Amino acid sequence: MDIVKEFLELTSYSVPSGHEGEIRTCLRKKLTDLGFETWIDDAFPETGSGNLYGRLEGTAKGEPLLFAAHMDTVTPCENKHVIVEPEGLIHTDGTTVLGGDDVTGIVELLAALRRIRAENIPHRTIEVVFTASEEYFVQGAQRLRYDTLTAKKAFILDTDGEIGRAVVAAPTGIRIIANLHGKAAHAALKPEDGINAVRMAADAISQMRLGRVDKDTTANIGIITGGSSGNIVPEHCFVEGETRSLLHESALKQRDHMIQCFQKSAEQAGGTCEIETTLVYNAWSISEDSELRRLFETACRIHGLEPVFESACGGSDASMMSSHGIECLVVATGMHEIHSVREYTTLKEMETMADVIKSIIIHE
Ligand SMILES: [Zn+2]
Repeated sequence: MDIVKEFLELTSYSVPSGHEGEIRTCLRKKLTDLGFETWIDDAFPETGSGNLYGRLEGTAKGEPLLFAAHMDTVTPCENKHVIVEPEGLIHTDGTTVLGGDDVTGIVELLAALRRIRAENIPHRTIEVVFTASEEYFVQGAQRLRYDTLTAKKAFILDTDGEIGRAVVAAPTGIRIIANLHGKAAHAALKPEDGINAVRMAADAISQMRLGRVDKDTTANIGIITGGSSGNIVPEHCFVEGETRSLLHESALKQRDHMIQCFQKSAEQAGGTCEIETTLVYNAWSISEDSELRRLFETACRIHGLEPVFESACGGSDASMMSSHGIECLVVATGMHEIHSVREYTTLKEMETMADVIKSIIIHE
């Protein structure tokens, strides 16, 4: 099938996170037609959605390789009107996202597999996972049936930028929520009876290391709400922030520092605080001599591309898979301005990446 035709077919589905049922049925048939054994899970029984898996036995030596992409998109994604320009630029009419994140990756993989099948080229064992709900805290990958997969090395077809870009490391991310409790009082009649929770939050935040804490670590306070009226000493203040670091230990250290700032200011003011922290994703990285890097480098150079290895600043399916013992390289698929209605891709990039993926699969 033609790449553009398949891209239009797959982006015609509206797939907000947790609603991958229809596109999964379509993709399952495509994998079956390519000779794959397929299976599904019921990761999201509430909506009848879940992850899709496939396995194609190898005809050549080499460890099995896993290729992963996600089926869901961010919103707005209803009733997409996709425009294909004569020179191959693909975008929407500006009212919805395109869904190239992550349909580009899916289409490129299917095109590569189809070419390998048509030319009857020997290849190693290929496993495929099309995840659900990646855009919602990578919940599909969290609920993946890892016991059904044999591959320990994965290409994750899911990052933006030029073809040849690959992500070799990503941070630990921790969400931090503080609820500060003081004591309400009339602000003019008896201010000395009150304990100002907003002031507690302000004191804590002013003592915090925030922004780019060091070369691997960032921290932010993003939400602060509190009080009920200008003439009442505020009893409560809610604060939400986060920290991320490529070094897991540094993220934990920064989290502890932020907690201590809240606790200290609450204590000094005579109030209390409750702190809740959530480890959203775990840091991961792959070594310079990893086979995944070598395969990607070779494949890029065959097609005249110079690979660029970088670290990411957020979580993805790779964060989850890495913590389940699967080594990951996240590769760019030609999606641009993602998570916006200006999102676009090009036919040329999808063609090139299909060639790169084909070379990865057939190379030893
Ligand atoms: Zn994506």
